[in-house]
Amino acid sequence: MAAITEAAIRELASIKGERAPITSCYLDVDGRRVARHRDLEHEVDVLLKGARSRADGDASVTADLRRIETYVRDDLNRSRVRGVAIFACAADDMWRVIELPVPVRTRVVINHTPAVGQLESVLREHEPIGVLLADRQRARMFVFELGELVDRSELFEEALRDIDGRGDRDRGDHAQAFEARDQQHVRTAAHVAFTVWGQHPFAHLAIAAPDALAGQLEAALHPYLRERLAGRLSVPVTASHEQVLAAAQQIEAEVERARQAEIVDRLRAAVSAGRRGVAGLADLVEALGEHRVDTLLVSSGYSAPGWRCTRCDRLAAMGRRCRTCKQEMVEVEDLVEDAVEEALAQQCQVEICIGNADLDVMGRAGALLRY
Ligand SMILES: [Zn+2]
Repeated sequence: MAAITEAAIRELASIKGERAPITSCYLDVDGRRVARHRDLEHEVDVLLKGARSRADGDASVTADLRRIETYVRDDLNRSRVRGVAIFACAADDMWRVIELPVPVRTRVVINHTPAVGQLESVLREHEPIGVLLADRQRARMFVFELGELVDRSELFEEALRDIDGRGDRDRGDHAQAFEARDQQHVRTAAHVAFTVWGQHPFAHLAIAAPDALAGQLEAALHPYLRERLAGRLSVPVTASHEQVLAAAQQIEAEVERARQAEIVDRLRAAVSAGRRGVAGLADLVEALGEHRVDTLLVSSGYSAPGWRCTRCDRLAAMGRRCRTCKQEMVEVEDLVEDAVEEALAQQCQVEICIGNADLDVMGRAGALLRY
């Protein structure tokens, strides 16, 4: 699976379609959502048909859409892939497929630059997590990235064998020697966590160890790692790959909730100060219509009817005359969904908040504004 990095996204974002527009296509191919490949193909056909009508006969874009269809039919293997991002421009001989172990929101954007907003969200929401498992004899280090665990334990087992050997010689010595050995073990474990971090930086670190040992480990960590501590896991050092994965995903969800809570706090402060923040769907779509939104926040599961202008696409909570062009608007079933789409099209940051009561109180939707 191709790794995505911030540098890779920045590089993508700097590309401009020279001879034709760039087709950006995100696909939710999660097998938990759509089990049968034929059903997925049908879904993609409908999506591409809509995109084709927007392509306005552009030969390059039409070729891009055909290639996407072929890719889904013949080349997409969904055993480990849940989301796909494709950036194509046949006229410039550009074709990039980024397969992701996490789902994305299905959509096609045709523009002079690649629409990288969703890729940025994926990176933001799935920062790498390190997991250090230890008892008094062993330590294993994992790095968890984009919903997947990368086993890093081999390196550490090597380092520990020496200590185990010395431990054997120490057997029968007084308690002090055992304590010294424990301390050495803790230092080695902390050092290996730091070495792994150097090779494969992670934003958060979780420790799985008996309480007394966990405290010693936390104290022994390099300050860079100590400030990344995200909590303790209760899995044994011998835990299976799947157990560690499940525990790390819990940590990831907690980290994500905390990150969103911090953004909701910023929104609340902005709204109460009356500066650079709006609360509620009606004000949110007004701000979107004025291209002032920096970060859009909505509570997961929130949906509400509203209005859309058929001429300029402006959204509104109240119909039926468009404030921009005075055209008569049409009702839309889910204004929240349309607002999220519009925000993504404007390259805004989008936060779908799960279980954030503070955002619910503010009307389940809001936005941090650029000005
Ligand atoms: Zn209008």
